[in-house]
Amino acid sequence: MILPIVKLPAQVLRRPVEDVKFPLSKEVRRLIKDMLDTVIKADGIGLAAPQIGKNLNLALIFLEHAGVPVIPIINPKIVSSSKETVAIEEGCLSLPGLFGMVKRPKKVVVEYTDVTGKMAKLEDNAWIARVAQHEIDHLLGTLIIDKFSTITQGKELLERYSDHSEIL
Ligand SMILES: [Zn+2]
Repeated sequence: MILPIVKLPAQVLRRPVEDVKFPLSKEVRRLIKDMLDTVIKADGIGLAAPQIGKNLNLALIFLEHAGVPVIPIINPKIVSSSKETVAIEEGCLSLPGLFGMVKRPKKVVVEYTDVTGKMAKLEDNAWIARVAQHEIDHLLGTLIIDKFSTITQGKELLERYSDHSEIL
């Protein structure tokens, strides 16, 4: 089921989340499935539970077009991040039409619980790291507008930067 995506100024985007309990309830399993339907429909690459109005410590990383199967990250935590940072233009499904440059650590290690209740770890220095940081920010009530170094406008600027691989 496709769920409506919450947009600013909805306060749910700013509230702290609650940890998800295991074993996963039927409701949470259903929610994960619905979040997947929703992120596919929205053509997004990630979605956090507050974006569909739920204060739960849960997000999806969805980079299927890059060959990565969907990764539901439950109760995630960044346990280490590189000193090296990279600035990339980001947008957000909760902030339609708004884009800006966001500087983040290039590499992160994320610990989380998978849908079966097992502890899991992600270590990445490219797109998974970028999306994981964006989604974990959502779970902390942080949005890209808090982090923009430069506000860009959208597609026309994406095109201008499209020959710079470090930006796109
Ligand atoms: Zn977002």
